[in-house]
Amino acid sequence: MGISLQDYQTTLKSRATLTGIGVHSGNTVTIHFLPADADAGIVFHLIDDDQPVREFRALVSEVGATDLCTMLGDPAGQHIATVEHLMAAVLGLGIDNMVVEIDGREVPILDGSSIEFVEAIDQAGIEVLPVKRRFIRILKPVRIESGASWAEFRPYSGTRFEIEIDFESPAIGRQGFATDLTADVFRSEIARARTFGFMKDVERLWAAGYALGSSLDNSLVIGDDHRVINVGGLRYPNEFARHKTLDAMGDLALAGVRFIGCFRSYRGGHRLNATALRRLLSDRAAFEVVEATRRGRAGEMSAISAPVYAPWTI
Ligand SMILES: [Zn+2]
Repeated sequence: MGISLQDYQTTLKSRATLTGIGVHSGNTVTIHFLPADADAGIVFHLIDDDQPVREFRALVSEVGATDLCTMLGDPAGQHIATVEHLMAAVLGLGIDNMVVEIDGREVPILDGSSIEFVEAIDQAGIEVLPVKRRFIRILKPVRIESGASWAEFRPYSGTRFEIEIDFESPAIGRQGFATDLTADVFRSEIARARTFGFMKDVERLWAAGYALGSSLDNSLVIGDDHRVINVGGLRYPNEFARHKTLDAMGDLALAGVRFIGCFRSYRGGHRLNATALRRLLSDRAAFEVVEATRRGRAGEMSAISAPVYAPWTI
């Protein structure tokens, strides 16, 4: 069955602040979350040394790189890296409009999951705005393949994710996670799933000047003996698949509005997620923009022809 879709847009009631280090840069950054008007979407304000404040809209059309994380802007110039865990919380809790002020080029990694973003949003509170929320409703399957990996959107009555991964290492192996997205499910089943990596890869990344902030405090790390090194082990039995679900939620939040449909992927990642979303948005016959009907039953949607902050209008 589909989820019950909230009909109106939201923003924050007040502001909240977080400080932490970027997992790739190792730099300390402070991030402020502020309320925004209806139809503003999620907008990052980069306060970068002496430069004028630069705006980045949280849209797939602004994505400049998907190599180790999802980055908005220019990898060689001004950008904001590692937006995905924050954007997962935005989608998970249903925040439509927010300004994210950040004084460095990378969103802090915190504990490697979305839980501290959830707590910050809870602290600020959620305000419902008197403007209808828009959705992208998937009308026909859209599928992309890359080697053994694939991703697809399919029509579905709610917002659903079915994510499967398959790693050679027996520490992960083949595992999946599937769920309809609701705020409760996000909080209890997904938000605490941490990013992960292999010790051998981390060492190589360190040597190349990446992952400088990476540690056991913010990543699940698998050692050469195929065991999880972290004291305390896993937070969920299939934490890896749940984190990949979290990543997919964050990447697909860059549609600018929530989709009504099922997203499935096998051996996915940030690049596959962004490519699938771009493919969907480039096929105008594959989706329609909908909002709640004026006098409709709960969850009833009708197509509209006036998208405001979705990427295909930019
Ligand atoms: Zn991640």
